[in-house]
Amino acid sequence: MSATQSLPIDISNLCKSYGSVKALDDVSLNIPAGEFLTLLGPSGSGKTTLLMALAGFVRPDCGSIRFGGQEMIATPPHQRGLGMVFQSYALFPFMTVAENVAYPLKIRGVSKSDQSTQAERALDTVQLGGFGDRRITQLSGGQRQRVALARAMVFEPQIILMDEPLSALDKKLREHMQIELKALHHKLDATVVYVTHDQREALTMSDRIAVVNHGRIEQVETPERLYRQPSSFFVADFVGESVSLPVDVAGNTAQLAGRVLKSDLPIAPGGGHRLVIRPELLEVTPGAVPEAANDLSGEVHEIIYQGDSVLVIVNHDSAGEINVRVPANRAGQMGLPSKCERIGLSLHPQDTIIVPDHAS
Ligand code: ADP
Ligand code: MG
Repeated sequence: MSATQSLPIDISNLCKSYGSVKALDDVSLNIPAGEFLTLLGPSGSGKTTLLMALAGFVRPDCGSIRFGGQEMIATPPHQRGLGMVFQSYALFPFMTVAENVAYPLKIRGVSKSDQSTQAERALDTVQLGGFGDRRITQLSGGQRQRVALARAMVFEPQIILMDEPLSALDKKLREHMQIELKALHHKLDATVVYVTHDQREALTMSDRIAVVNHGRIEQVETPERLYRQPSSFFVADFVGESVSLPVDVAGNTAQLAGRVLKSDLPIAPGGGHRLVIRPELLEVTPGAVPEAANDLSGEVHEIIYQGDSVLVIVNHDSAGEINVRVPANRAGQMGLPSKCERIGLSLHPQDTIIVPDHAS
């Protein structure tokens, strides 16, 4: 099954206030046709409001939303041609699986026989072929979620909106569905706007991620660039595991506790800069730390076994606590000192992330 043709979405200067709360604060975002774009942010940051504005259920106070170049602000939801999946799947419990999936076709006046062929094809796509006659109550959580997906795409929408569709599933099924949804997106050729507060889910699924904070978009980037080159402390802290230490920045040079840091990454202007240390980017160095790297050596404070890896908490000589993640394999274990011993730690200039706490 493939959609007719996906459409680009252009959002410009969108705003929406509830009393004194700015749920959307001058949001602009261009989403190319066929992209899987994720809105990622903490609870209350404005993700659902933005998705509801795209769907037409929230009327923005100002700004513009265009689908394929066409202004949508005044268009009612049912005329926007969108497929939608929400956190609670909102299936009709008294209908069969096939009736649920065919519902969008029925309200569009599609003939009975076409309804059943298209519903069956959509169910095949989500690997529920042959489940059409079952009752919704006879399905597991993951199966219900897939019925909701089949219903969202049965009429081959050019745009699909999804708001935390996997959050009700347990971890294993959620991770399985993330991969399935990503594969499905490749098949469908639809533009997808996906909402989640789960950073790993966003990294796993998206072509690009827009990080939302207090109704504003902090950064829009591919997963890898977002992780490796966050533009602000908020993004660095929200995406991935890290500890941070305050640094002094003058021009392009940053100093940690009076020592110059070597960094190959650009330092964004702003105030309150911090060195962001991802535990897996530090290297345990048995001898002296190489001249080309940053020396973050210190004394081992705590060693915590976590199954897939070992977390080592180190007191840096002058700057504070640092976390290092060491693989739980034999090689990783061999380089580990014990508690209170010194540990050599180096950070490569390409892994040395320095971000402003607030943009200038
Ligand atoms: P998210 O989906 O990121 O959790 P929301 O878009 O639901 O965030 O909410 C953004 C902000 O707008 C929050 O402060 C929320 O309390 C507020 N808000 C959302 N919808 C309404 C509403 N209908 N009435 C009043 N406040 C709202
Ligand atoms: Mg929400």
